[in-house]
Amino acid sequence: MKPTKNRVFCNECRRPKMLFETEKKALLFMKFNNEEIASENDIVPTRAYFCEACGGWHLTHFSAPQQNKSKTQMVIEYMHTQQAIRKAQAEARKQLLDEKNKIRQETHTEVINQLSEIDKQIKKGNTAEALALVKKLLELSKTKYITPKVKKRINKRYLLLTSKYAS
Ligand SMILES: [Zn+2]
Repeated sequence: MKPTKNRVFCNECRRPKMLFETEKKALLFMKFNNEEIASENDIVPTRAYFCEACGGWHLTHFSAPQQNKSKTQMVIEYMHTQQAIRKAQAEARKQLLDEKNKIRQETHTEVINQLSEIDKQIKKGNTAEALALVKKLLELSKTKYITPKVKKRINKRYLLLTSKYAS
């Protein structure tokens, strides 16, 4: 007889196959039908195997268990690899961002300290020294990130000091 029960299209084999819920059911089918199958076919199933694509059991006439990974197994492994790569990339991006933020924070602290030093020099009347420090900060702002608010504070002092010079 031609097996017609429980047939599904198997994505692993790319053709319709019988699908059994358990190995026992698959083996029982073989036990009770193989004689009849043999009378009509050259190919007779010889063993049951679990199919990851279908989530159940198929029969096959290939006697040796396949050594190679199934296509489904390869797809699963590929997806796991891709997930691991994405995770590593996300972690690398986060590390880079953390590093960037750390540097920004350090620069910010340094600039704030310099600003208070500038104000000290201004109070003392050391205009030339204060201006030199302000110019240093302006130079720094070309290569390092400084918040607009702090930049305004630097510019304010630059304008103050240069107008003092002019007058
Ligand atoms: Zn299958």
